[in-house]
Formats: sequence, C-alpha cells, structure tokens
Amino acid sequence: MKYISTRNNKKTYSFIDTFLNGLAHDGGLYIPKNIPRLSKSTLQRFSKLNYNDLAYEIIKIYTGNTFSRTELKQIIKKSYKNFDSSNVIKFSRVKKFNLVELYHGPTLAFKDIALQVIGNMYELILNKNKRRINLVTATSGDTGAAAIDAVKDKKNLRIFVLHPKGKVSVTQRKLMTTVNSKNVFNIAVQGSFDDCQTLVKSMFNDLSFRKSINMSGVNSINWARIVVQIVYYFYSHFCLSEKNNKSVFSVPTGNFGDIYAGYVAYKMGLPISKLIIATNENDLLYKFLKNGVYKPSKVKFSISPSMDIQVASNFERLIASYCNNNSKKISELMSQLNKNGSYRIDKNILKRIKNIFYSKSVNAKDTKKIIKSVYNNNHKILDPHSAVGLKALQDYYLNNNKKSENLFCLETAHPAKFRETIYKILSKNPVIPKEVNESLKKKEFYKVLPNNLYKIKVYIRANRLR
Ligand SMILES: *Cc1c(COP(=O)(O)O)cnc(C)c1O
Repeated sequence: MKYISTRNNKKTYSFIDTFLNGLAHDGGLYIPKNIPRLSKSTLQRFSKLNYNDLAYEIIKIYTGNTFSRTELKQIIKKSYKNFDSSNVIKFSRVKKFNLVELYHGPTLAFKDIALQVIGNMYELILNKNKRRINLVTATSGDTGAAAIDAVKDKKNLRIFVLHPKGKVSVTQRKLMTTVNSKNVFNIAVQGSFDDCQTLVKSMFNDLSFRKSINMSGVNSINWARIVVQIVYYFYSHFCLSEKNNKSVFSVPTGNFGDIYAGYVAYKMGLPISKLIIATNENDLLYKFLKNGVYKPSKVKFSISPSMDIQVASNFERLIASYCNNNSKKISELMSQLNKNGSYRIDKNILKRIKNIFYSKSVNAKDTKKIIKSVYNNNHKILDPHSAVGLKALQDYYLNNNKKSENLFCLETAHPAKFRETIYKILSKNPVIPKEVNESLKKKEFYKVLPNNLYKIKVYIRANRLR
C-alpha cells in the first residue's frame, strides 16, 4: 500500500512514514493512493470473523509488510485484552435503532479503540528501528486520556499532554492525571483548548525544536487512527444486518475522523447507504451540505464538548477523494481557506457528496430531551455526544422513510465521563465501571504552566527522552 499527501499526489510514502510523521511536510494529510475495493467473496469471508480477526484482516490491508502476521496479531490481542467486552464493542437497541457501544476501553471513549493499537505499534516500530521519540499532543479531554493509557510505561517514548486548565470535566482530568508513570507528563495550560492546540502546532512547525526532541504526534489526523476505526463499521454491519439490507451509520462528529473511517469502509465495498454527520451547535458541516461552502466560525461551547470543533481537519481527505486526489485543486481550496476564511465546492461534487452523506445539527434542548426519553423508555443513559447521534438518526428516519435499511448510531463515550451534565438532566449519576473508579481515587500529577510557548518548550526539553 502506497500513500500520498492530499497536497502532492506525485510523491509516495510508506505506512511507517505516515505513522511517524502524522502530518505531511507540505501541510497535507496522508491518504492511500488507492482505496482497495473488496470482492464479494472477501466480504463473505470477513463476515464470519470475530472482532480481533477482522481487525487483523483490515489493518493488514493498510500496513502491508510493516508487521509480520504474528506481530500484528499480537498487537491487536494486547490492545484489546483489557476491554470490558470480548469482542471489543457491544450492541444495544432503542426501538429500531441499533446502538454501537464503542466505549468499553480503559478511558471510556471510542478513542481507546484506535489509540491502544497505535501505542503498541509505536512500541514495536521504535524497538525494531532503535528509535526514541517524544509525543506532544493537545487535548480537550478524551484524546489525552486515551493516548496516555495507550503508551504509559512503554519504552523508547515519552508523552506530553497539554490540557486547558479547569476546562475539562473532573473525570476527564483524573483519567489523565492519576496515571503515575515515568513516561507521562501532564501539563495544565493556563488558557483554552485552542491555545493548547496552537502551542502544539507552533512546536511542530519549529523544525529545529521538532528535531531536537524527536517529536511525534497522535492527534486525530494520524492515518493509523482512521484505519483502526474502519473495523467497527464492518463488524457492526456483519453482526446485525438483516437480509441484504444496506446500512446507515449516524456518527457524532467533530474532527471528521470517525465518520471518514466509515466513508473508507463504504469505498471498500461495505454496503452503506448513508453516513449521517451528527453535529452539535458547531454546525459548519451541516451548513456545508446545504450550500457547499466550508466556513469555520467561532467555537460555541456545548454540552458535548468533544465535538466543539470548528476546523474539521479530516474533511480535507474527503474533499480529496471527491476531487480524484487532484492535489492542485486541493491546494487551491486550502489556500482560499487560509486567505478568505472559506471555500466553495463545485455543485456537481456537492451533489455526489449528498448521495452518501446526510447531516443534522442538534441543539442542547433536543439533546437533553432525547437523553430523558431514552432513559424513561429504555432505561439506558446516553452520553451527550451519542444523544446527538441518535437524534440525527431519528431525524433521518422520519424524513427518509425507507424501511429496509439497518439503522446504526455510534455511541462514542460512556455517560459516566460526563456525569455532571447527566446529573443535571436526569438527577441521577451514571454508574462508573469499578476499575476506572478505583484508579480515579489515586493521587494526581500535573504541572501548571502559563500559556507561553517558550516556557512550555523549556519544560518539555528538560523532561524529554534523550
Ligand atoms: C473525539 C470525539 C468525537 C468526535 O470524533 P471525530 O473523529 O473528531 O469526529 C465524538 N464523541 C466523543 C465522545 C469524542 O471523544
């Protein structure tokens, strides 16, 4: 499998390049040169596999010879052995809607599914190539915890996680700061999440600093994260599709990573009839589907904070696909975005995007309403992100009364992670899994630093792995 950058389709890269670099040096995102279409007989064979074996087959397609069969099998087994489900995910049902529970990993959000695998890939690649790296990442809550759990106590790497001080939920913070490991460094920045992200970007763009600390990243544009997320679309369809029906997936969306993985599954030949971009009040993609204009504005803070994003980084990958990887065209659109703060896509491309995508923006009032009604009628507590997804799916179902589709909503987080919000809505605390609860009682470790690039660089340099 060969990779290219969205902004230069001439130069090719290996999986390892995409993995260790994260972002291409030309500022583009890595994409496969071609997404392979699976034959009917391959799909048939895949449909009988358990989760780990299916993960092996799909990840293998994208990693090629990077790992031997035994190595990749081992990586997957190790990654999922601590999940609270033998097949990684679980399903539940609310009327005709299937809920795909993706939060049975150690930090209670779907990000564990990809980051656990990535942690084990790092360990193996660094060990084999005798390399050492320092990971630096910014988090609004969920990525940081999932990344820390995935790399804690691993050799040849250290992780520095910047979170905005006082702006993540208590449970989110404790999931990061109670991990007492020599290679984990939490930094509470006196600023916002946007400040944290700007600091990390500045460090990435400072090539001499980047080199001096062997810097790498695990943010949501890492291609490997996408690959690992493709698996649960296949698995859900294979487990629950009725007759020969096609499947619809509603995906609570922020950075467009999770739903883009669904799009790749569709391109590989999984019978998907619709992908629903479910957003909160940050509705830039909902508006894009209406008028073809991509125009980020100011972030609105909501009760589903992991989706409070106005720059859907992975969207560039989708646009590249619809422009047949025409990197000149992509570069033009991206420089328009930089210059004018927006870009517009051709009418015929928008029409093709709408054949497979649908979108709904869900406000706080409707999110609370659906959490209440699902709790009252089905005794299930939805987290606020998943509630946005289910509301969007209901909306789709009511407006497109095709009865012969399998309807799925991805549940991206465990409700206990947002217990303060849930308590306000239901006057009831969601039960937090026992092991997680125990670890949250431990002592917290973090360093408070001002929103100052120089001071943060000094701290990272002093504590880096040499
Ligand atoms: C990260 C996250 C999302 C958004 O996922 P993207 O891949 O960024 O679109 C949705 N829900 C939860 C709970 C998350 O942590």
